[in-house]
Amino acid sequence: MARGANEPILISGGGIGGLIAAYCLAHQGFPVRLFEQSAEFKEVGAGIQLGPNIFRVLSKVGLMDAVLADVHRPPAQEMRDALTGKLITRIPLGEEFIARFGQPYAVTHRADIHATFLKACEASGLIQLETSRRVDDFTDHGDHVTVTLNNGETARGRALIGCDGMWSKIRERIVGDGKPRVSGHIAYRGVLKKEDVPADLWRPDVVLWAGPRTHFVHYPLRRGELYNLVAVFHSDHYEEGWNAEGSKDLLWQHFKMQVPEVLRMLERIDTWRMWVLCDREPVKDWTKGNVTLLGDAAHPMLQYLAQGACMATEDAVMLADQIAASPDDLPAAFKAYQQARYLRTARTQIMARVYGEFYHARGVAAELRDMAVGGRTLQQSYDGIAWLYGGP
Ligand SMILES: Cc1cc2nc3c(=O)[nH]c(=O)nc-3n(C[C@H](O)[C@H](O)[C@H](O)COP(=O)(O)OP(=O)(O)OC[C@H]3O[C@@H](n4cnc5c(N)ncnc54)[C@H](O)[C@@H]3O)c2cc1C
Repeated sequence: MARGANEPILISGGGIGGLIAAYCLAHQGFPVRLFEQSAEFKEVGAGIQLGPNIFRVLSKVGLMDAVLADVHRPPAQEMRDALTGKLITRIPLGEEFIARFGQPYAVTHRADIHATFLKACEASGLIQLETSRRVDDFTDHGDHVTVTLNNGETARGRALIGCDGMWSKIRERIVGDGKPRVSGHIAYRGVLKKEDVPADLWRPDVVLWAGPRTHFVHYPLRRGELYNLVAVFHSDHYEEGWNAEGSKDLLWQHFKMQVPEVLRMLERIDTWRMWVLCDREPVKDWTKGNVTLLGDAAHPMLQYLAQGACMATEDAVMLADQIAASPDDLPAAFKAYQQARYLRTARTQIMARVYGEFYHARGVAAELRDMAVGGRTLQQSYDGIAWLYGGP
């Protein structure tokens, strides 16, 4: 039975965060109306890594098996020196990892997890999904909200959740902290079919090649059928958005000194898509009355801890729990959700920046990094990340 007097909760944005939020609310019995500005629900991009923390919350809402159906399960994460090829550290992700964190580590295509969430929303029977609908503005009337859509319509709901990403319009009104911070780091990404990866270079692990002011990551995707490549370097080039074509010359300038394994892999990609990496300073006030934020709209982060989509999913499950706990007082539920989330998400935002510096270290700083991570026992490596993987 639908809860909440049958008036829907409105969601702006149908990315990974918006869809999982809609699903979690419906799972608790609340009707939802979700507006996505694009003409269809689809994810651009390539691979994402999924830490054990996302599986802990997905298992609570019954979506763990559906997500796991498309993933690749890497046996280990490796970090190598991109100038010498030397192994810096190898962290197993198999039985020892599951024994420690109680959940697996996996990598998936962004489109696959997005499609799984979309299917779950469609099957719920409580979610109205609307494409080509941009939320331009909202008014909080105290006992309900209205949103203004790009087609001139007004829609009414009990509350509004802004899941509209890094450049969120809802955030503009709630937090008002201007444009995102441009990090000065650029990511180039490409996906290959398994058969297009030279056999001697194909590896089942997540491999990170750390170089001076660069790093390069590769891992298999989609049950091993695809191979994901992401090359990151420092540059002042700035272009808003996530999907521009990247120049090969610019990439080559930054990577040409690196080992043949790296160069041979980079050469395999004909067309790179480019992301200019941005984030924001953490804030603790992303809720106002009947309106709150979730995912990148609330706490956009650099990708160095591979956690943006994981954090959005944790948000969704915990927000739905808070709403279920006080279904007649959504402003109180939103505040409780924010209170439960802001320190964990802020820590992830800040630590993602630190990991970026760490991967891109040069000279003596790189030597110190290699000594520090190379000298750790397996338990020490797990302990170092337990604050993140052990949550929420
Ligand atoms: C290079 C890179 C690698 C990454 N790797 C990982 C990883 O390994 N693991 C991980 O967990 N995360 C990773 N992330 C982060 C992750 O991709 C994001 O944190 C996550 O996708 C955010 O989801 P979201 O739904 O909050 O926002 P978005 O994905 O930005 O979705 C926002 C949606 O809202 C829509 N929208 C925007 N404005 C409006 C509006 N006004 N009205 C209606 N609709 C609107 C957009 O069209 C879009 O569909 C990575 C990110 C990058 C850039």
